[in-house]
Amino acid sequence: MIRNAKRARAGMRSEERYRCLSEASFEGIAIHDKGRIIEVNQAFAEMFGYKHPEVIGMHALQFTSPESRDPGLQNIVSGYEGPYEAVCLRKDGSTFTAEIRGKSILYQERMVKVAAIRDITGIKQAEEELRDSHLNLSTLYRVSAVITQTISLDKLFSIVLDTVTGLDLFNAERKGGIFIVEGNRMKLVSHLGHPDLFLKLHKDMKVGECLCGLAVKTGEIIISKNSDNDIRHTIRYPGIHSHGHIIIPLKARYMVVGVLYLYLPADFDINESRLNLLTSIGHQIGIAIDNAKLYEETKALSLLDPLTGLANRRMMDILFEKYFAGTQRSGTPLSVIMLDIDHFKKYNDTHGHDSGDKLLAGLAKLLLSVIREVDLAVRYGGEEFLILLPETDLIGASEIAERIRGAVEATLAITVSLGVASCNLKIKKQEKIIKKADEALYRAKKRGRNRVDASGRL
Ligand code: GH3
Ligand code: MG
Ligand code: MG
Repeated sequence: MIRNAKRARAGMRSEERYRCLSEASFEGIAIHDKGRIIEVNQAFAEMFGYKHPEVIGMHALQFTSPESRDPGLQNIVSGYEGPYEAVCLRKDGSTFTAEIRGKSILYQERMVKVAAIRDITGIKQAEEELRDSHLNLSTLYRVSAVITQTISLDKLFSIVLDTVTGLDLFNAERKGGIFIVEGNRMKLVSHLGHPDLFLKLHKDMKVGECLCGLAVKTGEIIISKNSDNDIRHTIRYPGIHSHGHIIIPLKARYMVVGVLYLYLPADFDINESRLNLLTSIGHQIGIAIDNAKLYEETKALSLLDPLTGLANRRMMDILFEKYFAGTQRSGTPLSVIMLDIDHFKKYNDTHGHDSGDKLLAGLAKLLLSVIREVDLAVRYGGEEFLILLPETDLIGASEIAERIRGAVEATLAITVSLGVASCNLKIKKQEKIIKKADEALYRAKKRGRNRVDASGRL
């Protein structure tokens, strides 16, 4: 009897200790016997939105949302102590994610389980945000890496379109395009998955027109959830199916240089984080377009032809003017050779354009090996070359032309035709001598190619 009382007192003391400790905890603590709640602390009651007495006698699974009930029951039956995650259910029906740990204890003279429940919604959310921002960053990195690979505008457009429509992130269709702003018009420079009728209708659009024009005008991302009931979607055509749109302005130096439009399933949803990502992608593309444009402008301004390394027409204009003025002043001769590859189109068709390019570079090298240092070899057009020969008369120039013709025939897989012309004091404009050389070239072609013709008497 005395021993029983002692044990009871000891039991009371340990329960009292549990109570004190559990009330001091921020975690929800529940004591249960095979799932049936015997005792909880205040934190547990508050966590689940109950008053303390309501909870006693309830089953642990009543605090668990349906999707977590099966694994929850298994854990109770097997005595698994965790930690494990579960989606918990509050009295008001709302849910939160919790981490649960269990332990066996002696309580009121029997072995029961104590479960500690920690609300990890905040941690989960932070993890989710971290994952999301990592995904955003890696996507942005991927897009940037792809677009910095090319400096050519045409390639840039198709690479951008291919990459962005290929991202799983936006659930976009493999369909869309890029418009570039030119004054108050918009030019469709790249597109994917459109029928001919669409292309016809969107060939030339005004800024402000339809959704893409609006994105250019406002500089804001345009979201159109369903084309069927969006009055801003003004360009329509038969066979159009319900779809959603995201239109991203492509900006560089605070200017909208174009737009990228994507097709999404009708009534799509997109969160703010993804929209921010699209804005950043838009900036990246905008800057890349701006750089590519700048590159093309500088290329046009430079004086050398990148493929052959010869002077381009701009450089020729500058030097020709100088030489021509000298000739006019002193009467020293000045000649021009115009050269055009014979049947080059056929060569390209047979061997491919890249081989054609290599041949052009090889021909340029050969020209440089035949002419003097004072002569100027120019890539005049695609497969046309011009050689400016100061202090050389028609006979001298014709001899050089013939030497070039022979060397080409002997060493390259093609032949060339050449026209020669010289300045005389009657020619007052430098363009005239080029025209005469061109006429001579035309005659050489007409007379059977692989030959030299000269303008005037030798
Ligand atoms: P021909 O002059 O004997 O009358 O015949 P062709 O076949 O050369 O005729 P044409 O002048 O019309 O064609 C020129 C061809 O040169 C067309 C084009 O494919 C090619 N071409 C022009 N520029 C380049 C270039 O930069 N690279 C390559 N690979 N081909 C070029
Ligand atoms: Mg030609
Ligand atoms: Mg030709």
